[in-house]
Formats: sequence, structure tokens, C-alpha cells
Amino acid sequence: METGVLIRKIHMDCPLCGKAHEVEERKRFATILLKGDEVNYEERFYFCVNADEEENEFETGTMTNENLLNARNAYRIKHGLLTSDEIVSIRESYGLSQVDLARLLGWGEATISRYESKTIQDEAYDTMLRLIKDNPLQALEFLKKNAAKFSGANRVEVRKNIIEKLDSYGKEYLTRQAFEGEYVNYEEPSDSNGFTTLDIDKIEAVISYIAENVSNLFKVKLMKMLWYVDAFSYKLNGCAMTGMVYRHNDMGALPIGHYSLMNLENLNVREEESYNYDSMLHIYPTRGMDYSILNDDEKNIIDKVIKKFKNYKAKEIIDYMHEEKAYIETRPGDIIPFSLAKKIREF
Ligand SMILES: [Zn+2]
Repeated sequence: METGVLIRKIHMDCPLCGKAHEVEERKRFATILLKGDEVNYEERFYFCVNADEEENEFETGTMTNENLLNARNAYRIKHGLLTSDEIVSIRESYGLSQVDLARLLGWGEATISRYESKTIQDEAYDTMLRLIKDNPLQALEFLKKNAAKFSGANRVEVRKNIIEKLDSYGKEYLTRQAFEGEYVNYEEPSDSNGFTTLDIDKIEAVISYIAENVSNLFKVKLMKMLWYVDAFSYKLNGCAMTGMVYRHNDMGALPIGHYSLMNLENLNVREEESYNYDSMLHIYPTRGMDYSILNDDEKNIIDKVIKKFKNYKAKEIIDYMHEEKAYIETRPGDIIPFSLAKKIREF
């Protein structure tokens, strides 16, 4: 057996040599057969320097359990299943006990407890846990279905916890769902999305970043600027930045799902009356927005677009876009392919 790497020395009564001395705690990579599959994982053990080579290592019960947990988690990761920690964090995000979560999903009461500590969950159980992971509405559906498993007071309590989760981030989740839903046909990288799949975190950062630098940023102008950001990114790097898909519209390029886009909970968009009493969407920076998702290269591209259009009025940027090949060579309603977007004029 490989002797492993020393982690620390612990003074204890050694069960191997019968003396009290410094026993070495060590770790090494080991292999185990789980569900017919060979899995590599890290195991810990104690090592006695006094004992003979035949039997110079031992494990405590706690250690054995932890080693097995590591092995099972290695199996889970290898097979794309939730790890025991992930199952704990899903449960805790709902503030539910192990028994309540098991009841909610219609399972035996000990099931969650077993998944968190030992047993590897079956694929179908894994899928159900993933269903409720970021979706309190789904959890409410399960509660309806399995209501009989709870006592009255308990059910009210569980429902309250789910609603709390729904309130705290459900709104953001739902607005994202609505926007994402418009992109179901564009989940693969293609000429339509500039070989980038939809990245909502990035879109929110790009929009807020533009709003930080452009006062009086209204929707029409923002839409064109986003297209130029993606088009330049594609021209320079061979892939767009946001993953949005744009259509040829009278007013230039318009991303698919632009209504849902403006509803994203993390954007700071306000409806304001303009001088001619039309209501217009004014985009402000989002307080506390995390821009670390944008790398320097991406910021340079956005800066370039900001510098060019900062002082353009909506009408001016529309007229400017009308001269692009991407606009001239597509018809109203067409998706603007990035192979055409790439031909934008330099500025
Ligand atoms: Zn010993």
C-alpha cells in the first residue's frame, strides 16, 4: 500500500503497538469499486511507526465514514450527480429539516438523511432535487402533491419557508426564466448568436457598465449599443459577448426577447415620461453590480462602443446602423447573422 503524505502528528493511545505516542495522520489516493465502477478518491488513515510493516495503519470509525463519503462524492462527481454537500445546501436554502424535505418530495422519511451521509442517490431522485434547486415554484408544486404527508401545522410551516425563498430571489429567477425562454431555439452556438450561448450575468454587467458611462441611456440606444458590442467582439475574437440574437427591425438591430430583457430584476430600468409625453425606459447603473465577470478585453470593446456613441441621440445611432451591411443585406424580421455583423465599419 502507498504510505501517503503526512498531514499531522497526534498524541494518542495507539491500538496497534499498545503505547501512547505520536501517531501520524496521513492521506493518499485510493481506488474503490462503487456500483460496479472504479472510483479514485482521497482517504485518510493513521500510521504507527512502531508496528511492523504487515499492520502499521488503522482508521477510526469517523475516519472510515469520511473516507467513504469522499469515495461516494467522487463517484457522484464522476457521474454528474449532486454531491452530499450540494444536497445539504439545497435543503438549507429552503430552511427545511431532512425529514421535511424527504416528505416534500414524496420519499421515505430517512431518504435525505441517507443521501447527505452515505447512500448515492439514484438518477431519478437526483433529477427531482435539481428540479427544486433554484425553483421554489416547483417546490410548491411538490408540496401540493404530497400535502398528505404533512400534519396541518407542519405543512403551513414548510409552505412559509418555500414562499420566503420565492420572495427573496424568486422574482429574479422568474424574470430570468422569461428571458431565457425566448432563447430555447438558440441553445447551441451558431452564426445567429455569434457562437456564444446566452449569458445573463454578463448581459446585466454589460448593460450596467454602459449605463455607468452614458447618461440619458434609453432603450432604443442601448439596444444598438449592445449589438455593436457583440458585433465588435465577434469581429475581433470570433465570438460574440452576450449570446443574444438580433433581428432586423425598422430601428436597427433588436435583440430577441427585448421586453423580457428590460424586465430583468437585476437591471435598473425606470419608466419615465419624455418631453413628448411618451413613456420611455431609462436605464441606470445597477448598484453593487459585479463587473469582475467582464475581462479587460471585453471592457475595451465596450469602452470603444461607449466612446463612439456616448453622445449620439437615438435617431443618430439608428441612422448610423442603417448604413451597416448587416442591416442593408437583411430584411425586416430576419435574424442578423454574425457573419454579416462582422463587416461593421471600423470606428
Ligand atoms: Zn503505535
